[in-house]
Amino acid sequence: MKTLRRTKIIATLGPATDSPQVLEQMVLAGIDMVRVNFSHGSLAEHSERIAAVRDCADRLERQVGILADLQGPKIRIAGFRHGQVRLQPGQQFVLDSSLPRAAGTIDGVGTDYKALCTDVEPGSTLLLDDGRIILQVDAIQGTRIVTTVAVGGVLSDKKGINLKGGGLSAAALTEKDRQDLSHVTDLGVDYVALSFVRGADDIQTARRLLGKAGDGIGIIAKIERTEAIANIEDIILVSDGVMVARGDLAIEIGDAEVPAIQKQIIQRARAMNKPVITATQMMESMISSAVPTRAEVSDVANAILDGTDAVMLSAETAVGDHPATVVEAVARVCLSAEKQPATRTSRHRIEYRFNRVDEVIAMSAMYAANHMHIKAVAAISASGTTPLWMSRIRTGIPIYGMSHRRRSLGRMTLYRNVYPVYFDMTRLEYSEVKVKVIAELKRRGLVQPDDLVIITRGEQAGRHGGTNAMEIVTVS
Ligand code: PGA
Ligand code: MN
Repeated sequence: MKTLRRTKIIATLGPATDSPQVLEQMVLAGIDMVRVNFSHGSLAEHSERIAAVRDCADRLERQVGILADLQGPKIRIAGFRHGQVRLQPGQQFVLDSSLPRAAGTIDGVGTDYKALCTDVEPGSTLLLDDGRIILQVDAIQGTRIVTTVAVGGVLSDKKGINLKGGGLSAAALTEKDRQDLSHVTDLGVDYVALSFVRGADDIQTARRLLGKAGDGIGIIAKIERTEAIANIEDIILVSDGVMVARGDLAIEIGDAEVPAIQKQIIQRARAMNKPVITATQMMESMISSAVPTRAEVSDVANAILDGTDAVMLSAETAVGDHPATVVEAVARVCLSAEKQPATRTSRHRIEYRFNRVDEVIAMSAMYAANHMHIKAVAAISASGTTPLWMSRIRTGIPIYGMSHRRRSLGRMTLYRNVYPVYFDMTRLEYSEVKVKVIAELKRRGLVQPDDLVIITRGEQAGRHGGTNAMEIVTVS
């Protein structure tokens, strides 16, 4: 039996992945989840892409989760008369929200974000185009922000603006995000990611807006703002997972701060029983190159050693030249990094006193798995919570999350070392379940006679939070 990859791979969809052949190659190369990026494209496009992924996954009998990533208050400059200008260091440049859309020149450009002139002060540093261009604020004159160019270069239409050190007043959920949220339930997504989250109430607001129909959709908080670092515990507590969104985060807090913060966020999320995604520039050079750099290989491997559940590809797949090759490269790096013994030992909650029966069953199963010759753990779980808890324990033993709910299976595609398996336990007698679980794992070639398998389940099949039993079964 081949070694299963434990770390999950998320691929952003885009023009480069629209061909059915490319999508199929990516699914076969092992993507576990796709990201639909609401910063680009129309609702109709998102909906077509999601349908294509569902079709392809069903056809190949794979589980592929869907993450809708909302744009959030990404602040941008307006346009230039001639599309772009070349800024020289030392020159003056004005950002002015009262300038018309395409009126930009070498002297200044507009922005949609009216509050920018009240959010900055003389001495503030503005970073444009992912930090490629740096402006020092000298003075505020009404709507005009007068700056000196510290680092120049070509600046083109609609490039992003970040304020170094954070402090922009924009709320995490824009009017567009609220609109998009009202559609994600119909689109059938498993997760929604919120961009530029500041605190726990951004998540709570989104949850309220999702409403009853959005029950079971996970909310991922993208950590990419200085304020989010200060509020990280509260944010992790109320969200269903977090993303280390290194692109914008590096601009706000400084790139050199990111590696250590990444480790802290991953460690905190795992300790608090939440999954975590590491994102941005993981295989950046593979947008055009067919092989990664040594630094990229190390970066992916280090994220895995940090304990991330998933690594995410952005432009590498969405607009890259080799979308499937990059997935293969990431998968290869994952498998090697996962050979490290440290990825299989855990002291998670070892000193903790539990007050939930289902959580203590999950922990006990993993303790047994890590201390005996166990081939697999099968968690029968309608909601997917038991496999999530299990996956916080580092282990080399696969956890099969067995559910009849599509959204629960979709949620599980994110959890490290959890393999979602469709399994309808609701119509089975309690006594039949064990035999049927083993039969399903055998049918899929995941276990063979004489293997020891741990099964966890509840007396009332399908009831949330009902797991109260664990059995160790020999495959016949
Ligand atoms: P984005 O988020 O790709 O939507 O900008 C990720 C990041 O900022 O790293
Ligand atoms: Mn971002």
